[in-house]
Amino acid sequence: MNAKHIAAGLAAAASAAAAGNLLATAGIRMTGAGITKKLGRRGIALTFDDGPHPLYTARLLDLLEESGVRATFFVVGEKAEAYPWLVRRMHEDGHEVGIHHYKHVSTWRLTPHRLREELEATDRVIRMSAGVKPLLYRPPWGRLSPFTLAVAKDYETVIWSHILGDWKIQNCFDLSKRLEAIPADGSIVVLHDDGSNPGADEAAPAFMIGELEKYLDSALRKGTPFVTVSGRDPDGH
Ligand SMILES: [Zn+2]
Repeated sequence: MNAKHIAAGLAAAASAAAAGNLLATAGIRMTGAGITKKLGRRGIALTFDDGPHPLYTARLLDLLEESGVRATFFVVGEKAEAYPWLVRRMHEDGHEVGIHHYKHVSTWRLTPHRLREELEATDRVIRMSAGVKPLLYRPPWGRLSPFTLAVAKDYETVIWSHILGDWKIQNCFDLSKRLEAIPADGSIVVLHDDGSNPGADEAAPAFMIGELEKYLDSALRKGTPFVTVSGRDPDGH
C-alpha cells in the first residue's frame, strides 16, 4: 500500500465517520429514541444555552425572578467555572442546570473518551458551584454521534421542539411574536444567553432578553405555565 492508498483509506474512513454522525443525529432526532424533544406534560420549558455570561445571564436571571418564571440552563463548563456565582444563583432561584459540554465543542469532533471528559468536567463544575448533581445534557448544536447516548447514559439528553435562531440579532426583532405562537403542550424552547460562539452575534442575547420580557409579560397575563425540563424541585428531590 503506498501513501496514496493510505490517504484514500483515511479519507474513506473519515467520510464514513462523518456519515455515521449525520445518520445518528438525523435518526435519533427523527425517531426521538433515547432523547427528549418535548415534555409529556403541560407547560412550556424555556431553556437557555451557552452561558453563563456575566452580563446577559445576570440580566436574564433578574427578569425571570421578577416574572416568577422557572427555566432550565444548559451551561458551558468553562464559563460556569469562571462565573460560579451565576450557576449558584440559577439553582437558588429555582432553575434547573444541565450540561452543555465543558467547551462548546461539537460531539462529532469528540472520541467517546473525550465526550466522557466533557460531561464529567461540567458535571463537577455544576456540583461545586450549585451543590446539585445535573440530570440533563444537551449536546451543542443538538449534534449526536453513534456513541453519544451510550456515553451520556447517566443523563437525560434533551434537544428541543422549538429553535428560533436568536443567536443572530436579525432573528430577534419579531421574537416575542414567534414565542407567543408556541403551544403550552410540553414545548421545549431553546434560547441563548451568550453570543460568543462562532456564527452568533455577541450582543444577540441583549435583544433576546428584551423580546423575552415582552413575551413573558403577555404569556403570564394569559396564564401560560412555565416549567423546568425535569420538573424536579430545586432541592433535588
Ligand atoms: Zn450551544
